[in-house]
Parts: sequence; structure tokens; C-alpha cells
Amino acid sequence: MIDSTVKLHNGVEMPRLGLGVFQSREGEEVINAVRFALQHGYRSIDTASIYQNEVGTGKGILESGIPREDIFLTSKVWNNQQGYKNTKGAFEQSLNRLQTDYLDLYLIHWPKGEQSVETWQALEELYDKGKIKAIGLSNFLIHHIEELLPHTKVKPMVNQVEFHPELVQPELITYCKEHGIQQEAWSPLMQGRVIDVPLLKELAGKYGKTNAQIALRWALQKGVVVIPKSVHEERIVSNADVFDFEITGGDMVKIDALDQGKRIGP
Ligand code: NDP
Repeated sequence: MIDSTVKLHNGVEMPRLGLGVFQSREGEEVINAVRFALQHGYRSIDTASIYQNEVGTGKGILESGIPREDIFLTSKVWNNQQGYKNTKGAFEQSLNRLQTDYLDLYLIHWPKGEQSVETWQALEELYDKGKIKAIGLSNFLIHHIEELLPHTKVKPMVNQVEFHPELVQPELITYCKEHGIQQEAWSPLMQGRVIDVPLLKELAGKYGKTNAQIALRWALQKGVVVIPKSVHEERIVSNADVFDFEITGGDMVKIDALDQGKRIGP
């Protein structure tokens, strides 16, 4: 089901699939993408202050007619806003732009050494006050998490990292599982390049699905939350049509073998 969830370690239910809006233009483009997604059953939206489309994201939520409390909304604190005081200000600015009074998930967008400890303290306070339902990390590798953990009172609930068939980082998945941190995939469609991968095409034919659906289903079966981005209504609908089939164990292993540790992002 499109609205199926995973339970985070604090009991919050997070949808297994959401809409990403990186590179969705502020204004009509992002408003429509968010509205389409919610009207077609998505219940999770992933934005960030650096995407400069939080205003449109908020408008899309309002225009969808879906009650705010039924939506899992994520944003992130950008690098130049880290530190205790700056993060609190950045959080308020995100709320204002999004026209909401709380976030479901707020992430540190990128690790920034010791400064991220202060950032995390701000997130913990906002979490304790009930302004954020869950707090987490993004782009943290194992050693970044190891550095942060001793300074935390509240353990991170999520780590959002680049993840797709050509970049699996199995040791990070295992580490996160062991620490109760839910992994979330950014660029699960390799920014559209899944259409060029021969094995995904072959499996798409076998299962009567698209290359994109195979990549998303594979991630879901590995226990990873996905947030594919599209601004096209047909793709938004089809990317979520991944809950009615199962990839066999043998085919999962074949997709795993595409891993080259190859990054699209930094
Ligand atoms: P994705 O892997 O989701 O790919 C998006 C691209 O694929 C777009 O160009 C889109 O084009 C195209 N596309 C969408 N659906 C299909 C389809 N069915 N067939 C072929 N092409 C398709 O990349 P993103 O980098 O956007 O990652 C997803 C989300 O993850 C982001 O939107 C953002 O929310 C988050 N993210 C987080 C980062 C972080 O540092 N934490 C970094 C990067 C992303 P079109 O829109 O024209 O359909």
C-alpha cells in the first residue's frame, strides 16, 4: 500500500514512500508536484531549505486538501545554518515558509564536524518541545555517526543517504539497522538514469513494471524508505505503484550485484 509505514525507534510511523522535491522549481512546478502526489495517495514529502521551494511545498500541501496531520513532512537544516542558535532560527524560517507549526522529520543535511553536535542539541530541544516528531541525519557515513552518538541524548531516528543499485553501501545499512536508525534513500532513481540500466530493463520486462518501479521495489525490499522525485503526474503515479509485486530473492541478488560504490552526488 502506498501509505504503508515503518515504525521509527520512537514509535513514529514514517511512510515507506514519499515525494522528493529537490530541483522542483519554486512556484507552480513544486506546488503541482506536491498536490498531485498527495491527491494520488502519497503521504510523505521531502524538502529542504536549500531547495528554495518550501513556500511552494507548503502551498501544494494546502491546495491538496489533505489534512496536515495526515502528511509526513520532512525538511533539513543547511550547512551554513548549522550551530545551536542558527539551527533554531533556520527551523523557524522553514516552518514559516511551509506554513506549518511542526515538522514530522528534521534532518542535518550534511555532517559538519563538531558544529553538528551543537546542531543536534538544537534538534533535541525542538524534539522535546514537540515541534518535531522525529529527528535525524543526512549524508552521515558510519564514522560521522560514531562521532555524534556519544553527544546525543536522543538517538537519530533516520539517516537519509544516496542509495540506488549502483551505490548500496551495505555496511552502512547494517550499521544503521544495528543502531535502530531507519535508512532513507535519496536519488533512488539515479536521477533518472535507471532507464539506462540493462538489468533493470530486463527485470522490468519480466515483472511487467518500469525500470524505475524495479529500482524502488528493490530498495523497499531492502528495508529502505524511498523518496523518488518527479514533477510529472504520470510518473508520480507510476513511481508509487510498487506495492503489488515482489522481486524474487534471486533477482534481488542480481540487482545487488550492480553495486559499484558509484556516487551521483558529492
Ligand atoms: P531521483 O533519483 O528521485 O530522480 C529524479 C529524476 O528522475 C528527475 O529528473 C525525474 O524527472 C526523473 N524521473 C522521475 N521518475 C521517473 C521515471 N519513472 N522514469 C524516468 N525518470 C524519472 O533523484 P533526486 O536526486 O531528486 O532524489 C530524490 C529526492 O531525494 C530529492 O528530490 C530530495 O528530496 C532528496 N535528496 C536528498 C539529498 C540529500 O542530500 N539529503 C540529495 C539529493 C536528493 P521529472 O521530474 O522530469 O519526472
